[in-house]
Amino acid sequence: QHEATWKQLNAHIDEWVASSKTHTSEGHVASYIPELANAPADILGICIMDSEGNTCLAGDSDFRFTLQSISKVFTLILALMDNGEDVVFSKVGMEPTGDDFNSMLKLELVEPGIPFNPLINAGAIAISSLIAGDSTDTQVERILSFFREIADNPSLTINQNVFKSESDTAHRNRSLAYFLKDNGVLDREVDDVLRVYFSHCSIEVNCTDLARMALVLAHNGVDPIRNQRLIPRRFVQIAKTFMFTCGMYNASGEFAMNVGLPAKSGVSGSILTMVPGHYGIGLVGPALNRKGNSTAGVHLLGILSQEFDWSLF
Ligand code: GLN
Repeated sequence: QHEATWKQLNAHIDEWVASSKTHTSEGHVASYIPELANAPADILGICIMDSEGNTCLAGDSDFRFTLQSISKVFTLILALMDNGEDVVFSKVGMEPTGDDFNSMLKLELVEPGIPFNPLINAGAIAISSLIAGDSTDTQVERILSFFREIADNPSLTINQNVFKSESDTAHRNRSLAYFLKDNGVLDREVDDVLRVYFSHCSIEVNCTDLARMALVLAHNGVDPIRNQRLIPRRFVQIAKTFMFTCGMYNASGEFAMNVGLPAKSGVSGSILTMVPGHYGIGLVGPALNRKGNSTAGVHLLGILSQEFDWSLF
């Protein structure tokens, strides 16, 4: 089964990437973080990795980009490992919002004023405050080394230009954070929490790093290549459930319908997804649709899911 899929994948991926790439013209590169606006609008790259670490690479798969919201999945996992479920779910809820990722709406509606889920900005900011460490430097160091471990890449670093660019312009995220502080959700100083949040959003990767990270989730927390458990199974289950219900923001329902896999997108045009038990997938196509997901990327995943019957249902 795997061999047949792998063969067909490698035979057709260039053609599927090429036809998906035409959809880049329907989208726009994010510009609210000025540094992100420098990304080329017309590219699309993908890496699919199997359990032995073989890669199927196509398109502009060398392009480097920042994790942005994809990082929220792994900070959620680290926060769960640091604090356990009870503490984490006293600060964030478990429900999709149906609103934009940086929405201020509904913040007040979940009792007692906690964000709906850990993948919208408000929820991820709350999660950043839960990462263990007595200084922001320690928190950021711990996040970086955790991400390096999952990606099996000790050279992952923070893109300082993107960090600064976001930090200088993040008025909306600042207001969300102050709101959370006022509601008693943040135990640390707002500026410190935001520094941690912008830092993990600015970690730079390529498609292969994304696919490698996804592979660990695809195998329920065990890295199949090093044969080593990196994350407790329950926390991967939680992360994948959120990816399925909230990972593509207010397009999560549509994505579940058309692709049917747990996934997380970022405003850099990146998407991390996986075929549970089999493949880790990372892609980038910076042109975004109105809901903030890569236009070409979503199209390409639709083709792959259909061709290989990858939907979980
Ligand atoms: N750093 C980005 C922000 O807070 C992440 C959002 C995203 O990738 N959707 O706006």
